[in-house]
Amino acid sequence: MSMFGQVYVKNNRYKIKGNFHHLTPNIPIRNADDGWKLMGVTNPRDMTYIHAYGGEAPFFEALSQGKLLGTRCDNPDCEFQGTVYQPFRIHCMDCLGRNTIIDMTDAAQKNAVIHTFMVCERSGAFSLLDKPIKFINVEFEKVDTILMSYLSKGSPEIGMRVVPIFKKQSPTYTIMDLSWVPAGTEEDQLPEGFGF
Ligand SMILES: [Zn+2]
Repeated sequence: MSMFGQVYVKNNRYKIKGNFHHLTPNIPIRNADDGWKLMGVTNPRDMTYIHAYGGEAPFFEALSQGKLLGTRCDNPDCEFQGTVYQPFRIHCMDCLGRNTIIDMTDAAQKNAVIHTFMVCERSGAFSLLDKPIKFINVEFEKVDTILMSYLSKGSPEIGMRVVPIFKKQSPTYTIMDLSWVPAGTEEDQLPEGFGF
């Protein structure tokens, strides 16, 4: 039986179903220059990792619904009360208090610009992004941090106005569900599954 491992939480415990690791045969490694003598074996490893999002879960849920959430420190005793965090941070870095979750979708659509960028011709293992990958740092008005993401269309330029797009169709519930395109891009130009 082959089935992806599935997990849900009930009564504060993980309930798991399916296969979380697969037995895959070892394959001998032989030396072609020395009579194909045995040199070793491959040890395939394939496992499913349970990645808990904790307090960041609302951020990933919102991406699948086309919303960009950030957080804000509302602690009146904090020296920097009112700091807005994007990327989403659960706790204020200054007072360590719990931040308030805020919806930043509107602000992201209206006043996000590329702070700087980096174009990568190669990527790491398991990257699903199309190459070259256009990593961008996104700057928002009245936001105190800078978001790292990627541009799906066009060529990045410093100061370029960009708008967020969301993978609402078959979301992955990862940061891959958020990407950006130059302001003015038409909806039919977006990558498959993405919308504004
Ligand atoms: Zn604070």
